[in-house]
Amino acid sequence: MIMISEQELAKLSYPDAPKMVTDKVPGPKTQKLLEDSSEYESMARGAGRFPCVYDEGLGSTVKDPDGNLFIDITAGVAVNSVGRRHPRVVKAIEEQLTKLMHATDMTNTRRIQLAAKVSGVMPQGLRGNCVSYFTQGGSGALETAIKFARRITGRTQFVAFHGAYHGVWCGSGSLTTGAQYRLGYGPSIPGVIHVPYAYCYRCCFNMEYPSCDLQCAKYVDYVLNTPYTAAEDVALLVVEPQQGEGGYVPPPPGYLEILKEACDKHGALFLADEVQAGTGRTGKMWSIEHSSVVPDMLTWGKGMGGDMPMAGLTLRKDLAAKITDGSQPNTFAGNAVSAVACMTNIDILTENDSELIQRTAQVGEEIKARLQQGAHETRIIGDVRGRGFMIGIELVKDKESREPLDPDTIGKVVFGLLNRGIIMVPCGRYGNVLRFMPPLTITREHCEKATEILLEVVAEI
Ligand code: PMP
Repeated sequence: MIMISEQELAKLSYPDAPKMVTDKVPGPKTQKLLEDSSEYESMARGAGRFPCVYDEGLGSTVKDPDGNLFIDITAGVAVNSVGRRHPRVVKAIEEQLTKLMHATDMTNTRRIQLAAKVSGVMPQGLRGNCVSYFTQGGSGALETAIKFARRITGRTQFVAFHGAYHGVWCGSGSLTTGAQYRLGYGPSIPGVIHVPYAYCYRCCFNMEYPSCDLQCAKYVDYVLNTPYTAAEDVALLVVEPQQGEGGYVPPPPGYLEILKEACDKHGALFLADEVQAGTGRTGKMWSIEHSSVVPDMLTWGKGMGGDMPMAGLTLRKDLAAKITDGSQPNTFAGNAVSAVACMTNIDILTENDSELIQRTAQVGEEIKARLQQGAHETRIIGDVRGRGFMIGIELVKDKESREPLDPDTIGKVVFGLLNRGIIMVPCGRYGNVLRFMPPLTITREHCEKATEILLEVVAEI
């Protein structure tokens, strides 16, 4: 039963959002800071030149330096699961600040407690039977998975998916597919095979679920079977159980199970990358839990840290036993302050039978239904999909051809939203999918306001 009251949740955010004090965004103070940013910061940073500067944040709301108050439907790109500066997270951090902060990669009390807690919330099959390697972000977790998989299996090849995003470093960036992240940064690490994902709205086999009989999953089985792949050399299959940067794409039922069977047949390991879709966002603690698959490894990050940098790779104990002691040091791993923030975040999410996560599933369905209804009345919303607070809204030129909406018009939608106090960022292969991914603690009122403003802005285009 969900007991969390909307009044309690309302206290976690600035209640009167959205509220704009400048005629348009960016206002003068923000503009000046953006100029300083392009002077002193590398523009390789995320979101390029998005004209917004965060100055203060509370729950699912943020203020810019001019005092404009926004509803943040990005949750800092799926980071703020329990919202910004949740009072319990702040209190835990304050207490820890008086005890210990950094402790070298040699372990510390909080990190040991965190490792046990993470083990306790893993999907059934891994739970209680796994160990964690801590990193500061998702890329590091995936980077580690690549090396561990090589070390464990003695194999060298990897299978990843079109639309995948697993980070931008040399190894993790080789699993990631977006051209903008790769062009000019090559060569990638050798041995990565990319195969189509189950993107039903743009099926590359021109088929429809369920009559397709999951052709895309069977294709992965074929790739792993064919002598042209040398399947005995495939170390690891890396998959997002719901694709994030690739366009908020949930695969159809049965898809992940076929991938896992294909891996099992060939002795390849299976990694669920939960960096974006995990930590309750899809209405279950882990998005792989919408299937019956037990992954061999699971990477997590973003939403786990409770507003602090914390990520990791969690893997089965028998696999971890094959890793040489002391072979992968990481100076800042498992910072004690981040560890307590992460533990408090997990507590808030999982207490009372994970009611916050159950609520996410329920409110997410309501918002999705409203968006799907609204989509019928617009020309440019081609598809609304996803689970919980991981909903993709795919914008197209027209619904017949499904041609992606052009970047200029998408920019108009995003800036239209920003000027009305809603922060939303796009994703997807063509950058044409708006993502509904607020903190799990957002009120219904803020969800509904953001949804109505989105539908109005889209209608004006
Ligand atoms: N995996 C997934 C699924 C992600 O969405 C991301 C970040 N968008 C990463 C890995 C990389 O995480 P980070 O940016 O923390 O390195």
